[in-house]
Amino acid sequence: AKAVRLDKFLADAGKGTRSEVKKFIQKGQVQVNGVPAKKPELKVDPEKDTVILSGETVGVAPEFVYYLLNKPAGCVSATEDHNDRTVMEYVPSDRKGIFPVGRLDKDTEGLLLITDDGMLAHELLAPGKHVDKTYFVRVEGKLTVEKIEKLENGVDIGEKKLTMPAKVEIVGGSWEGAGEPEPGRVRRENLPEVYTELHLTIHEGKFHQVKRMMVAVGNPVIYLKRIAMGSLTLPDDLRKGEYRSLTDEELRKLK
Ligand code: URA
Repeated sequence: AKAVRLDKFLADAGKGTRSEVKKFIQKGQVQVNGVPAKKPELKVDPEKDTVILSGETVGVAPEFVYYLLNKPAGCVSATEDHNDRTVMEYVPSDRKGIFPVGRLDKDTEGLLLITDDGMLAHELLAPGKHVDKTYFVRVEGKLTVEKIEKLENGVDIGEKKLTMPAKVEIVGGSWEGAGEPEPGRVRRENLPEVYTELHLTIHEGKFHQVKRMMVAVGNPVIYLKRIAMGSLTLPDDLRKGEYRSLTDEELRKLK
């Protein structure tokens, strides 16, 4: 590997801006091969030299980062927005070039992948790939067997074609036989008298697709949360607004 300036190495590793890491160096917080480094322009070879900042070894920055965010409601799936908070506010800001893979509506919660790996994003989003996306959906009213069949076979949401086959599983609701809602997955305030909770798995990602599908069968969505995308599932212990990096195993399965 090529030798680089110490301040560039530290900044590239995500330890701060160039001027921030220069201050660390001036304050004597950085050691190279056990010796305090005093000059930001000192050349280091990332493969041979050991750089320590405040007692911790600084590794070479990974090629790509993969953040799994439990998106809260109230923010938009964009890198920048003039009016609204964005999902980027919930993940580390030291990494340039990261973006959300696909979109969840402002009022939708749940699993959102944020990365700078454009190839993987393309694999997951390309229209021909049909990566499964599963949503926990709470709707007004009762879902009858006929409505479930319609959703599963394809409904008219005003596009040229009906929606592709989907999968419906009733997981809860106010009516008898609807089953018990899954613990931890529900918000119980302001529920209408009659409602249904379901898991809906779709393979496409048309604009507002889930909401439009449910309107098409006469049961408007009152709460929407994505719980899976491809092989990725939303971890139960990841709270709203929290993220974690994908594990090696999750990443391997996703690719
Ligand atoms: N379908 C929707 O209607 N909204 C989302 O955020 C995701 C899928």
